[in-house]
Amino acid sequence: MHSETRADLHIHTCYSDGVYSPKKLLRIADEKKLDVIAFADHDTIDGYLAGAEIAEDFRCKLIPGIEVSCYYKGFDIHILAYQFDPKNQALLDVIDYNLQERENRVLRFIDKFAEYDVYLTPEDIKTEKTHILGRPHIANALVKAGYARNYTEAFNKYLVNESPTFTAKRALSPQKVIRAIKAAGGISVLAHPFRLDHEQILYDIIEMGVQGLEAHYMSHNKQLVGKYLQIAQEHDLLVTGGSDFHWPTKNKKFGDYYCTKVSKKILNNR
Ligand code: AMP
Ligand code: ZN
Ligand code: FE
Ligand code: FE
Repeated sequence: MHSETRADLHIHTCYSDGVYSPKKLLRIADEKKLDVIAFADHDTIDGYLAGAEIAEDFRCKLIPGIEVSCYYKGFDIHILAYQFDPKNQALLDVIDYNLQERENRVLRFIDKFAEYDVYLTPEDIKTEKTHILGRPHIANALVKAGYARNYTEAFNKYLVNESPTFTAKRALSPQKVIRAIKAAGGISVLAHPFRLDHEQILYDIIEMGVQGLEAHYMSHNKQLVGKYLQIAQEHDLLVTGGSDFHWPTKNKKFGDYYCTKVSKKILNNR
């Protein structure tokens, strides 16, 4: 037995843009001896709800989680939430708004593609078995229709910020999202801070009342972890850690990463 608590609080399931089912993730979490996990699917809790129904069969504890998209000054910002009431209406309204915007964004992408002689229909993109629509699903449709040789090429050609066909996701403001998470009794955490386009955004989000920082993150190096731990301490923020696992690669399998330094307040049951 290990004495510390091994947690991975940032995992994507097949209900968003990951590839593993909640059941498979819980099974591997047990095999790899993780103690606590949270699914942080983009704008949906359906994977968490499916996992919660079978969580009793596993040793690893599953806590409520989500990764909510926000739109701030033209940038895409991800706010994680944990330990919320999954039935809270304020939170469900946030999820509904973002899901609708994901649908709208797909239509905007389709319009832009047509200007560049790329023709997709919503049905081409929606054939995927998923509870949300996102750029990964558009990438798969572009490959299937022969507009790109593979997923990475589809992204780089059509879906990254620099692409002429790019359209931003106009999700809810971080203020509204942080407020709704609080109303649902949850804890809001700014995800993967190193990906922010400008350092000032981090301080703006702290000012808005976010409660935690994802200081530990699989692709943060030691310097980055140290930097964000210091910022968390200065601003009295909780800290979390996660892998942001979507699918296995040659070097990175689910369960290889875990964090032993997550603030206790986040791990304890509501
Ligand atoms: P969306 O929320 O629809 O904007 O999609 C965001 C998701 O797309 C991320 O969570 C990643 O899984 C994926 N993604 C974002 N940027 C890239 C990229 N440059 N190459 C491959 N996948 C990406
Ligand atoms: Zn994703
Ligand atoms: Fe994210
Ligand atoms: Fe993520």
